[in-house]
Amino acid sequence: MLFSFLRSRRRRAIADRPFPPAWHDILRRCVRQTQWLDAAEAESLRRWIAVFLAEKRFEGCGGFEITDEVRLAIAGQAAITTLGLGGEWYDSLKSVLVYPGDYLVPRTTPLDGGGELEWREARVGETWSGGSMALSWPGVMDGGRLRDGPRSVVIHECAHLFDSLDGEIDGVPPLPGVDAAAWIDRFAAARERFEAALDEGRSTAFDEYAAESEVEFFAVASECFFQDPHRLARHDGELHELLAAAWRQDPKRRVPPHPARR
Ligand SMILES: [Zn+2]
Repeated sequence: MLFSFLRSRRRRAIADRPFPPAWHDILRRCVRQTQWLDAAEAESLRRWIAVFLAEKRFEGCGGFEITDEVRLAIAGQAAITTLGLGGEWYDSLKSVLVYPGDYLVPRTTPLDGGGELEWREARVGETWSGGSMALSWPGVMDGGRLRDGPRSVVIHECAHLFDSLDGEIDGVPPLPGVDAAAWIDRFAAARERFEAALDEGRSTAFDEYAAESEVEFFAVASECFFQDPHRLARHDGELHELLAAAWRQDPKRRVPPHPARR
């Protein structure tokens, strides 16, 4: 109780300090979503970012250098996802590892007849329940500048983080105030509609990586929900509605129907 009181007091003090002017320019450039926020949203985003930057450890991997641009491009995209959730949802995240490009993870597959095949898999991002997130910098930039269609690796990993907060990464985030059983059924039905569209070769709002599992479906659909909400709503209005209930915001209100990309 005392700890949380002290923590909120410390957070208020951090959030009250104005941003260095250069940070506003970096955010405008690196997180294009910020241009569509109203004044109240922009202010709550600024306060959230200040606390995030003060509390999370950023670590450059593979010789990568952490600059203000890197920290703000990541914090800014993460902040967009919390606009409806409020301050404390990503407290379990302690450190953010940033790689200069896709990074390789050693993997092994058991072979018939014994032994193992060792190989390396390229990744753009990962989240571990112990409190770390890994990101590839080109992916971070492309998402922030809306150059990767409905994709954003930061939003993807934040979706996994959000999903994990009820104790399990299972494609179902915490759903306070929502009829969870109905949400889960309707979400599963949306996943079936997506898979049917893929099977029948119809166009989909987001890419087929979403079909990997219910966990990836929640994360990839959430990317589209934030990055190109009109596209999501056009393809599956009900899925858009379910994500709006889970994330407690509707980006369709602010993001224009055809967000300019550059
Ligand atoms: Zn994923």
